[in-house]
Amino acid sequence: MAGMEVVAVACDDHGNIDIADLKAKALAHAPKLAALMVTYPSTHGVFEEGIREICAIVHAQGGQVYMDGANMNAMVGLARPGEIGADVLHLNLHKTFCIPHGGGGPGMGPIGVAKHLAPYLPGHPLVGGVGGSKAIGPVSAAPWGSSSILPISWAYIAMMGGQGLTQASKIAILNANYIAARLKGAFDVLYTGSHGRVAHECILDLRHIHEISVVDVAKRLMDYGFHAPTMSWPVAGTLMVEPTESESVHELDRFIDALLAIRAEIEDIRQGRADATDNPLKNAPHTLGSVTADEWTHAYSRSQAAWPAPGLRQAKQWPTVRRVDDAFGDRNLVCSCPPWGEDEA
Ligand SMILES: *Cc1c(COP(=O)(O)O)cnc(C)c1O
Repeated sequence: MAGMEVVAVACDDHGNIDIADLKAKALAHAPKLAALMVTYPSTHGVFEEGIREICAIVHAQGGQVYMDGANMNAMVGLARPGEIGADVLHLNLHKTFCIPHGGGGPGMGPIGVAKHLAPYLPGHPLVGGVGGSKAIGPVSAAPWGSSSILPISWAYIAMMGGQGLTQASKIAILNANYIAARLKGAFDVLYTGSHGRVAHECILDLRHIHEISVVDVAKRLMDYGFHAPTMSWPVAGTLMVEPTESESVHELDRFIDALLAIRAEIEDIRQGRADATDNPLKNAPHTLGSVTADEWTHAYSRSQAAWPAPGLRQAKQWPTVRRVDDAFGDRNLVCSCPPWGEDEA
């Protein structure tokens, strides 16, 4: 943190930055104000309309704006962070520029800065030609970081071209809005902009449905052949769906149809047509072993457990294990080694 302190800024009811609060805090801390760290479009999945004003408030008190570029896939080709007011922005290449996410390997997040900061870009004591004229010391052992990853992003950018990248941003935004629109009435989208639209992701609010939990929906999605989207982040009890530009409308429809079918299953529980505890949501996911067992004691049928949507008969992905208590499992290490028995003795 280089000796800096974090001052948290409040949010309003729509999930946007509380501009009055930001202004007051920027003023109160003006003598020591270093920077604002801001995510745009916001983590609530909205293009925050006050973003230029937000940047201007920080600049007026002598601060810099560090924009989290994680949501750049909603902006490439459409908006320039520098014009919005960002002084620094990193690009999570695995979010927007096609390199694999995770996998244990080194990541790569190139950082773009405005002209006035370019002289301070980090140098390297052993390699010339790195960094600016007033370079700070290195921030990574190798002069250009894990640069061998970069050809992947370079090739992606070269093959997509300017038009292709812009089209990808548009489709990412369109896909998220398509999902939000088709789910209207079934699930509440927590935050939208003033025109009722989202950016490249939408947060589905399940907190008012008391009969089931967000975990039940996430587990039930496995029976429909889907890995659940981000759960309980950034808001507990919600699902955050970020379809990206990569999914076809056919695949989006398959996902939406699954969510709508799950919503109908929830309604069955609410109306008393399904048992409050012995239902396909509470018992999800259903493995091949569980539905083919000789004994079936549930209040619903095997076919509802395993084949809740028509397309599943043609293509079924079987979950390999039943429900593991997520939070308990995370906190309690369970050794799966078999106990020492007679055979080993
Ligand atoms: C993904 C994400 C991050 C984390 O980025 P990683 O490079 O994956 O660690 C930070 N902020 C936001 C808004 C993100 O969406």
